[in-house]
Amino acid sequence: MQGGCACGEVRYELASAPMWVNACHCTWCQRETGSAFAVNALIETDRVKLTAGKPEPVHTPSLSGKGQTILRCPTCHIAVWSHYNGAGPKLAFVRTGTLDAGHDVKPDIHIFTSTKQPWVILPGDAPAVPEYFSAKEMWPAESLARRSALFS
Ligand SMILES: [Zn+2]
Ligand SMILES: [Zn+2]
Repeated sequence: MQGGCACGEVRYELASAPMWVNACHCTWCQRETGSAFAVNALIETDRVKLTAGKPEPVHTPSLSGKGQTILRCPTCHIAVWSHYNGAGPKLAFVRTGTLDAGHDVKPDIHIFTSTKQPWVILPGDAPAVPEYFSAKEMWPAESLARRSALFS
């Protein structure tokens, strides 16, 4: 899967499928995206291969208070992925809207639905939680194994 920014300077490809995909309806993601929710694909950062350009890290406040580093194209400033300070730089949250075929990536869960926009109708085929959730309880075994390999 390949993706990139709006001006074409930053291009990347994912070396495998993501471990998990969050659709986050928190008010922070709404503000950051200027939209109703953010869709983030969680993947090992070393599986995000830059094929052109070099995104620039921008420190941004986050809901947890720990902040996040959003990687943006230095020219058009589109956010391509981010690292949350909780999980650190090994884990990338790729903005699935920047994938060329973002429609191939579907949320595994909808989170922070307590603050979702009232006109957003959640699909029946993905779990939804009012706030956050436990990866141990929700993620498939294969993804949990990848996650523990990443942080071991
Ligand atoms: Zn750009
Ligand atoms: Zn959020």
